[in-house]
Amino acid sequence: MERFWSKVDKRGDDECWPWLGSKRKKGHGLFRFEGKTRSAHAVALFLSGKCPRRGRTLALHSCDNPPCCNPSHLRWGTRHDNIRDMVERHRGHAMAGDANPSSKLGKDIVLAIFELRHRQGEWGARAELGRQFGVSYSTISDIWKGYSWSSVTGLTCTRIKHIKVLALTS
Ligand SMILES: [Zn+2]
Repeated sequence: MERFWSKVDKRGDDECWPWLGSKRKKGHGLFRFEGKTRSAHAVALFLSGKCPRRGRTLALHSCDNPPCCNPSHLRWGTRHDNIRDMVERHRGHAMAGDANPSSKLGKDIVLAIFELRHRQGEWGARAELGRQFGVSYSTISDIWKGYSWSSVTGLTCTRIKHIKVLALTS
């Protein structure tokens, strides 16, 4: 895959290898591979010989640098793993002692939790996510129902019904 690696600025083994081709807004590289436009870092990981296992099909950065295509900075994981990484990074940035529990979560994390709202009906999902993020299960509930962070999630009361229907039929 010369064509692929020619678009990667390969540096030292431990350094980030930036993607030189076209990119998404957040900086992830784009590359057409096997008939589809895919994330360049995912292609890098795939070409390095590591195959994604079932359910673990997201290529995650350990370096938090979206354009990086160094396979040693990448691993396959789930959406959950991705959120856990974000939370850990966020904890690293955020200052402790905030009075409002939901403000512990940043916008990105709220959106990631919101993406998991199809798990609303799952017993224990809120508690599990709450533990993961260090907030109460009701904080997770509130995000899913649009009671908090609705400016971020865009969820309004009229859309709650719609989401419940989707959850039931999926
Ligand atoms: Zn990197």
